[in-house]
Amino acid sequence: MKSWSLRARLMALLATALCAFTTLSTVAYLTSSREEDRLESGFAEELSFLAELPAQRALAHHIDVDAADYLLTHKPVWLARRREAIAEFRDNHARLGARLTHEAEAKEWREIEADFDAYVSAQDAALERSRRGTMTRAEAVSRALSKEAVDSLIERMTRIGRLGFERMDAQRRATRSAAIATFGFILLIGILGAVALSAAVARMLVNPVLRLRAKASAWKLGDDWTPDDGDAPREVRELMTTMRLLTIKLNEQFERERETSALKSQLVSGVSHEFNNALTVIHTAHVLLMENDHSAADAPWHEMLEANIRALSAMATNLLNLGRLESGKFNLETQRTDLAPLLTNALERLAVIGRRKKQEVTLELAPDLPAVMADPDALPLVVANLLTNAFKYTPENGKVTLGAAKRPDGRVEVFVSDNGIGIPPEDRQKIFSGYYRTERSKKTAKGFGVGLALSRMILEAHGATLELDSETGRGSRFFFSLPAASAAGVAA
Ligand code: ADP
Repeated sequence: MKSWSLRARLMALLATALCAFTTLSTVAYLTSSREEDRLESGFAEELSFLAELPAQRALAHHIDVDAADYLLTHKPVWLARRREAIAEFRDNHARLGARLTHEAEAKEWREIEADFDAYVSAQDAALERSRRGTMTRAEAVSRALSKEAVDSLIERMTRIGRLGFERMDAQRRATRSAAIATFGFILLIGILGAVALSAAVARMLVNPVLRLRAKASAWKLGDDWTPDDGDAPREVRELMTTMRLLTIKLNEQFERERETSALKSQLVSGVSHEFNNALTVIHTAHVLLMENDHSAADAPWHEMLEANIRALSAMATNLLNLGRLESGKFNLETQRTDLAPLLTNALERLAVIGRRKKQEVTLELAPDLPAVMADPDALPLVVANLLTNAFKYTPENGKVTLGAAKRPDGRVEVFVSDNGIGIPPEDRQKIFSGYYRTERSKKTAKGFGVGLALSRMILEAHGATLELDSETGRGSRFFFSLPAASAAGVAA
C-alpha cells in the first residue's frame, strides 16, 4: 500500500466501501423480501380460510331452515336434506380446522364444533319429539321461528373471521416495523461508513498535504528541505520532490544574490570612499582659493561651489555608511551625549544651503534639554540628512526648523520640520526603504534616495524609530526620540 498512488488508494477504498454497502443492502433486501413473501403466503392462506366462512355460515342457516321446515310440514325430505347439510358442515369444519395454525383460533374453532354438536343434539331431540307427535303445533311453530341458537352459532363463526383479520393486521404492522428497523440499521451503517470513509480519505490525502503545507510555510530561504514524508501517497511525494528541487534552486539563487549584493556593497563603499577623498581634495583646494581670492563679485560663485561640495560630500558619506551598515562594519557605540552642541553644530554647518534659498532657519531647543544615550558620530549623520532634505525640498523663502524637547514619557524628541513640498500618503512608507523618491521631489532636487534609509537604520540601531507627519504641498515633520541619559551615562 505504501507505494500505491493516490488514485489507486482512493479507488481501493471506494470499491471496498461500495462492496460492503452493496452486500449489506442486498442482505437487507433479501431478508425483507423473504419476510414479505412469508407474510403474503400467510395472508393468502388466511384469506382463503376466511373466504370459506360465509358458505359455512350459510350451511348452518340451511340446517336451521330444514329443521324448521320439518317441524312445520313433517316431510321426511327435510330431514334427509338436514342430514346432508350437517355432514357437509362437519366435513368442512374438520377440513378448515386442520388449516388453523394459531392456538387462539384453533381453540375458538373447537368451541364452535362443541356448540354445533350441542345445537344439533338439541335440534335432534326436538325433531324426534315432533316425529313421535308429542310436540304441540304451537311449540313446533315457535321452535321453527326461533333463530337464537343458529344466530349464536353464526355469531361465533363471524368472530373467528374478525380474529383472523385482526391477526393479519398485527402481522402487517409487525412486518412494517421490522422493515423500518432494517432501513434504520442500514442508514446507520451507511452514516458510520461515510464517516469512516472520510476519516480514511483525510488520513490518506489531507493529512500529508497539511504536513506538506506546514513544512513549506516553516521553510525559510537558506534552509535545507528536511527528508520527505515516506508514508504519503505517490502524488504527494512527487510534489514534495518538486518542492525540494525548487528550494534547492531558490537557495542557489539566494546564495548568488547574496554574493552579488556583497560585491555591490563593496563596490559602493569603494567608489564612495574614492569619491569622498576626491571631494576632500577639491574642498581643501577651494578653501585655499577662497583665502587667496577676496573678490566680492566672485562670492556667490564660491558660496555655490561650497554648498554643492557639501551636498556631494554628504551623499558620498551616506553611500559609504550605508555600505558599512549593510556589511555590518558600522558599529554604533552609544554614550552620554549632549544634544544642544550637536544640533547647533549640525545646523551651523548646513545652514549655508538654506541661506542660499533665503529660507528662514530656526533652532528650537528647550532650555532643560537633558543629555541622551546616542552615538555622537552617527547621530549627526541623521540630523544632517533630515536638515539637508528639509532645505532641498522646501522652496525659496520657506521655513526650516530644527528642534528638541523633553517628552512627558522622559524621552527626548528631536525634530526637523519644513513647509516644503510634503510627501503623499502612498509614499510615506516607501521613502524609508531606500532608493525611492517621490515624483515631485525628483523635479525639485537631486538625490539618491539613500539618506532616509541610512538614518532609519542608524536610529533602529539606537532602538528608536524615525517617524513622519506630512501634508502634501504643505510641509513635513520628521522626528525621533532617544532615551535621556542619567548622570552615570546610562539610559534613565
Ligand atoms: P534623497 O533626498 O537623496 O533623494 P532621502 O533618502 O534622503 O534621499 O529621501 C528619500 C526621498 O524622500 C526623497 O527623494 C524625497 O522624495 C522624500 N523626502 C525626504 N525628505 C523630504 C522632505 N523634507 N520633504 C519632501 N520630501 C522628502
